[in-house]
Amino acid sequence: MANLGIPKNTIEVLQKYNFNFQKKFGQNFLIDTTVLDRIIEAAEITKDDCVLEIGPGIGTMTQYLAESAREVIAVEIDKNLIPILKDTLSAYDNVTVINDDILKVDVAKICEEKNGGRPIKVVANLPYYITTPIIMGLFENHIPLKSITIMVQKEVADRMQVGPGTKDYGALSLAVQYYAKPQIVANVPPNCFMPRPNVGSAVIRLTRYEEPPVKVEDEKKMFALIRASFNQRRKTLVNGLGNAQGLNISKDRVAQVLEEMQLSPTIRGEALTLEQFAELANRL
Ligand code: SAM
Repeated sequence: MANLGIPKNTIEVLQKYNFNFQKKFGQNFLIDTTVLDRIIEAAEITKDDCVLEIGPGIGTMTQYLAESAREVIAVEIDKNLIPILKDTLSAYDNVTVINDDILKVDVAKICEEKNGGRPIKVVANLPYYITTPIIMGLFENHIPLKSITIMVQKEVADRMQVGPGTKDYGALSLAVQYYAKPQIVANVPPNCFMPRPNVGSAVIRLTRYEEPPVKVEDEKKMFALIRASFNQRRKTLVNGLGNAQGLNISKDRVAQVLEEMQLSPTIRGEALTLEQFAELANRL
């Protein structure tokens, strides 16, 4: 099958199957071989790897993955794409396509069955509307994985890698940085996709830490504090956490711990590093 990274070949396939793009599934197919090469290179795919691809579309990146990996599992929600994938991936015997919603698939079971529970690599040009639940689902469910290399909205990639003191810093930055080391590997303009999205995109590689970079006694509690802090971003931590439902922490207790940590009593959550959130959770 011809390389679908070449626009002419993608157009041919779309016409052959009279395919209608579904906006609700965030369908923007890659049509740039340089970007495809860059993704495979950044993901460091080798013949030892079992790769999970989320949303293969018509199989453009799947072809590249099939060439470089030992095995590829591709999960696609749109049933209209399944016969197309059968055609475009017919040359490969190392690809399994699953027609399902990635948020409903038991990824841990796939890892067990296809890779004996050893860490897999995730590679995807993600549907932008569910980027955060997909990534957080993979991390929070402790799926064995080495890395996630994904195309996301540029603004989301920025949010994942910034630290305190920037407007993009928030709960997503801290969650990603607790589990992985983020690194933007390419910026990708709208003309690399068909149809063109309204926003710029970026490829980001998240390399999973074997051990989180900070020690936290209760992960859930730390993330509850982080969410509460950024839900009321403009409030001081004393007011934000002291008021937050479900946390059951008094304003006085927050103020006391901030003093122990030698932080200003008027500090906001957006000024705290991951290390400081971990310390706050442990002390509280
Ligand atoms: N990988 C292809 C490419 O690079 O050309 C397509 C990328 S397109 C941005 C996103 C793909 O994810 C579409 O094929 C879409 O149908 C699929 N998709 C959307 N939501 C999904 C979900 N919940 N589970 C699995 N696939 C999904």
